[in-house]
Amino acid sequence: MTENSPDHEDDRLGYTQARWTDSEERYEPLLAEKDTTEVEIGGDSPLPDDLTRDSVELPSLSEPELARHYTRLSQMSYGVESGPFPLGSCTMKYNPKFTEDVAALPAAGVHPDRSDETVQGTLELMYRLQDYLGRIGGMDAVTLQPPAGAAGEYAGILVAKAYHEANGNDRSEVIVPDSAHGTNFATAALAGYDVLELPSAEDGRVDLDALEAAVSDDTAALMLTNPNTLGCFERDIEEIASVVHDAGGLLYYDGANLNALLGRARPGDMGFDIMHYNVHKTFATPHGGGGPGAGPVGVAERLAPFLPSPRVRRTDDGAFELFEPEQTVGKVHGFQGNWLVLVKTYAYIARLGDPGLADASAKAVLNANYLAAQIDYEVPFGPFHHEFVASAGEQDAADVAKRMLDYGVHPPTTKWPEIVDEALMTEPTEIENKRTLDQLAAAFDAVAAEDEEALDAAPQQTAARRIDQVAAARTPRLSWQALDEES
Ligand SMILES: *Cc1c(COP(=O)(O)O)cnc(C)c1O
Repeated sequence: MTENSPDHEDDRLGYTQARWTDSEERYEPLLAEKDTTEVEIGGDSPLPDDLTRDSVELPSLSEPELARHYTRLSQMSYGVESGPFPLGSCTMKYNPKFTEDVAALPAAGVHPDRSDETVQGTLELMYRLQDYLGRIGGMDAVTLQPPAGAAGEYAGILVAKAYHEANGNDRSEVIVPDSAHGTNFATAALAGYDVLELPSAEDGRVDLDALEAAVSDDTAALMLTNPNTLGCFERDIEEIASVVHDAGGLLYYDGANLNALLGRARPGDMGFDIMHYNVHKTFATPHGGGGPGAGPVGVAERLAPFLPSPRVRRTDDGAFELFEPEQTVGKVHGFQGNWLVLVKTYAYIARLGDPGLADASAKAVLNANYLAAQIDYEVPFGPFHHEFVASAGEQDAADVAKRMLDYGVHPPTTKWPEIVDEALMTEPTEIENKRTLDQLAAAFDAVAAEDEEALDAAPQQTAARRIDQVAAARTPRLSWQALDEES
């Protein structure tokens, strides 16, 4: 053990990322910092002179150097294939390799402009996936177009808007609970709605009285996730649906927490009219790093004419074809959406089948409840399902997260939802076994017992120390040239 490795009793703790030693700055040099060559650019360009150049500096490296560079980078980061990744709300499932095999089949590599007659198998897969997702969510019609959950939300709220307008209803507000994901607020605002924030009741659920007071002729929709972001089921969901529907509004389901319900309960049966599916959460397609993902949207029958185009249907003679719903809100992504992500989604659902999906949700809920029962941090709200939100109490949740990295595990989501002080939103998912859950619990408890000094100094063991997250978000420098010009 090195002097600054955590003092752990359990030697399963303490897996560390690779890093450069003997260097204050632990980063792997950029390719362009290693060696470059000036390369002439020949020929005439149709672009204006001030947009062209005669030569360019390119990295000049051997294949082994290049392979080592990328291998080192992979060893300096943390992913779901490094260890547990209980990032609450994100449902960081391991992505099984067989789905990659299916997406890598030569037949999956179709050009999106090919005519329907020549890609019948592709269209059939999309048709079946629309059908699977519709049955899983209790929705009558599905589009596979949107490229992410947030994009699905936006498409879904555009559908709600088009529906109200077609009915001669000019509605100006979307209601969003205070515990909702930031994308719900952003979606409603981007679609041109005023956002009404609904305060939660004391038990962390929707406050029916507050909802009654909030709805009006102006209510276009209520956006809700169930179980909510605390992992708690909205038991009054049928009543919530009546309140919204009686006011003429629509009920939107944020599908991020569908993992808790999979194969057991369906948003459509609870009264939801529109939902998105985060396939990279619920159905184990790759997740993070900015995509590509997919966020299909399902709706009740009366909203189907407004869905983004194209969708896939089956003609009377059994062929499959793309079509444009009559009152479509238009296209929300190029071609047919993120096709290869959809192939992986289909493969995952088909492999698990109904019993496998129901088993996944059972284990996800069991794992969250087992882990919560093992840790020293308090969990103020319950009963919870696939995730729980613990409180770091007197500790700063962001410091707890940094320190957990030193114990070789990924931390939970922090400081959200805000109704829990110093929130540690934790979702182990069904993929972890008891041994890994115990490892996670040991990491939580080791950090819970530490003082401020240890927390402040963390992380010690990672490839990068504490980075300036605000600067990284506000003044991103996305090319080595920008870095170069500043230094
Ligand atoms: C992840 C998430 C979203 C957004 O989904 P993306 O696929 O990341 O765009 C929306 N709501 C909740 C509750 C989420 O956890």
